[in-house]
Amino acid sequence: MFKRKDRISAIRKELEAIVGPENVRTEEAELLMYSYDSGMARARPEAVINFTSAAQVAPVVKMLYGAGVPFLPRLAGTNLSGGTIPLKGGAILNLARLKKIRQIDTAAGLALVEPGVVNLELQRALEPFGFFYAPDPASQKVSTIGGNIGENAGGPLCLKYGVTADNVEKLEVVTPEGEVKFFSYSDAGPDLMSVLIGSEGTLGIVIHAWLKILPLPAHIKTASAAFPSLDAAIRAVTRIISAGILPRALEAMDKVSLDAALTGKASPFPAGTDAVLILELDGDDPVRIKTDLETAHKICSDNGCEAFKVAADEDERALLWQARKGAYPAMARLAPDLLVEDGVVPRPKLPEALKETREIIAKYKLTAGLLFHAGDGNLHPNVIFDRRDIEEVKRVKKAGYEMLKSCIKLGGTISGEHGIGVEKRVAMNWLYGRGELAFFHSIKRAFDPAGLANPDKILPVAGEKPAAKPDLAGAFVFPGKSGLSPEARSIIDELRLRAASGTRTAVTGLGTRLRPERVTEGARPLDLKSLSGLLEIDRENLTARAEAGLSFEEFRRQLKAAGFHLDLPELKGSVGGLIASKVCPEIRGLLLGLEVATAAGELLELGGKTVKNVAGYDAVRLLCGSQGAYAVILSATFALSAGKERQRPPFAEPPAWDAFEPAEIHRRLKKEFDPQNLLNPWIYRGV
Ligand SMILES: Cc1cc2nc3c(=O)[nH]c(=O)nc-3n(C[C@H](O)[C@H](O)[C@H](O)COP(=O)(O)OP(=O)(O)OC[C@H]3O[C@@H](n4cnc5c(N)ncnc54)[C@H](O)[C@@H]3O)c2cc1C
Repeated sequence: MFKRKDRISAIRKELEAIVGPENVRTEEAELLMYSYDSGMARARPEAVINFTSAAQVAPVVKMLYGAGVPFLPRLAGTNLSGGTIPLKGGAILNLARLKKIRQIDTAAGLALVEPGVVNLELQRALEPFGFFYAPDPASQKVSTIGGNIGENAGGPLCLKYGVTADNVEKLEVVTPEGEVKFFSYSDAGPDLMSVLIGSEGTLGIVIHAWLKILPLPAHIKTASAAFPSLDAAIRAVTRIISAGILPRALEAMDKVSLDAALTGKASPFPAGTDAVLILELDGDDPVRIKTDLETAHKICSDNGCEAFKVAADEDERALLWQARKGAYPAMARLAPDLLVEDGVVPRPKLPEALKETREIIAKYKLTAGLLFHAGDGNLHPNVIFDRRDIEEVKRVKKAGYEMLKSCIKLGGTISGEHGIGVEKRVAMNWLYGRGELAFFHSIKRAFDPAGLANPDKILPVAGEKPAAKPDLAGAFVFPGKSGLSPEARSIIDELRLRAASGTRTAVTGLGTRLRPERVTEGARPLDLKSLSGLLEIDRENLTARAEAGLSFEEFRRQLKAAGFHLDLPELKGSVGGLIASKVCPEIRGLLLGLEVATAAGELLELGGKTVKNVAGYDAVRLLCGSQGAYAVILSATFALSAGKERQRPPFAEPPAWDAFEPAEIHRRLKKEFDPQNLLNPWIYRGV
């Protein structure tokens, strides 16, 4: 290993041979420019490497990896969590010049792009084809597809169309060791693509992305609703969603944000307006949109709305969105610095979360505008401050942490779309237990054994202990801890016994797919049929939690009886079996949380009840398609739909769903999760 100060000069010639001498930059001014991003952290890199071709990335990464030099990919640097700060020095890989849109294929519904393509540029390129790309972060004028993938970005339209992970088909990735690999969510075996999305450059570097593009809706209607209080606005949000209306966007702004956004302009809202909702509906059926708008209007009026106005034309619509998307820059103009928090709570908990947020802001004597993606429970308090005032910075940090703790206490999470980076690393300790954090560390080790890809991000580092636990007294307890059925407990006990004696296990659901002739290696069946409970239907949050052995048909029947449905085709098998086999990859889109037992019999609670969650690696989707070999699924939380069920053609099940040949990365993950190869051992022979 080279000494730190020599790390770049020792390999400079080789790097220059790949990217050209002008693209290996070590001048002080250049290093200073890349020592900050939109977050608060600062650290200086040793070099900035500019790329002019995607093909240069793999050899450069291989060179850095071999020399033990840390590296991180960077695009527009608009992430709000310090994700592009080089905490251990090393090289910044500047991919901003890789900005070609390589293909737009409307027949396949795909666009193939390089990572540096700016989100809005892609939207502009798609428009003449009559298509759009759904994820639309407020930063879309500057933020890039690579950065959006790195953070699993969301935006107003994600309420209806899902976040970035739901809108990517396939990725070409340079691994931390410098190999080029392709990942798609529909690959046989575990869903590695989804783990890479939102991994903040810690597991690999995306060099090409195949994005799902959608036809522009024939009709869009946008309305604003002005309320005398934020509480009233939020009550209306919950009722609108529970009424089975799925707007393409449902955004909220409080008075502070509104005033900032409307500075110098006449307010179109009545005097005394404390909060405004922006509601947008789209589709090909104008009658349905009209009816939904009327229902939403009535719900808003019943909840105290004083002015509900449908935008008359494109100009009025643009004005509303200008106010929403311009609120952050408008707040930023009020003070030298701005902290944007990004906690999420289950939607029905929004009023409590907002009340606590306002109390925290008052307690620390701060000024903040509240902006949020109300439809999905994602809060963005924008706290303004001046970093030269050290005492004020301390108050801002404390307030930010208290807001996150409040979200955790209410059953939510610490990041919906901005990522963890370095700034929320410590808060991971408040959200997760040791088992979950160890699981995430295993994922990191499997992808990046030397720990050189964007080191010290996302996961707490040594010394960041869960010291703040006592502050969470009386906190929400994840349903698994309080609500684990006796049957699930006995499965965990059995796994512990088997682990102690080295007994191998064949994880068996309803036997719909597991072929008895494939069960070998002396594995003893572990029957999950006893896990047949529908543990919860949360009517207001539109989520349900079911045990793994429950038949999917029975699950749907019970949901239907309660007035809900899952937006999936008819599927056969148990809840756990369908997730583990991934015969219908679409299931991942509705899956919010999993409780699983490891081979050692440790309970892990992954994900939760919020529709957005980028706190840590997406282990929930990783276990989709893991075929019972990584962990035993005990129960799962799904997002429900209300209203009329979509008609779907019969589902054609792939005949060879288990034709899966583990690659090196699958084997590394298996070794991390189940080093004795105890679970479904025939899948990973020789691990
Ligand atoms: C005014 C403002 C509004 C915002 N609004 C939103 C919003 O509505 N929704 C939202 O989700 N976010 C929002 N953000 C946050 C930010 O814009 C997003 O996180 C965005 O996705 C980052 O894109 P970027 O190009 O700036 O990436 P960067 O900040 O350069 O990188 C982001 C992360 O991805 C990693 N990365 C970069 N390139 C790659 C790659 N090729 N492969 C793998 N990893 C990579 C980086 O290492 C880093 O960890 C906002 C930020 C600002 C300043």
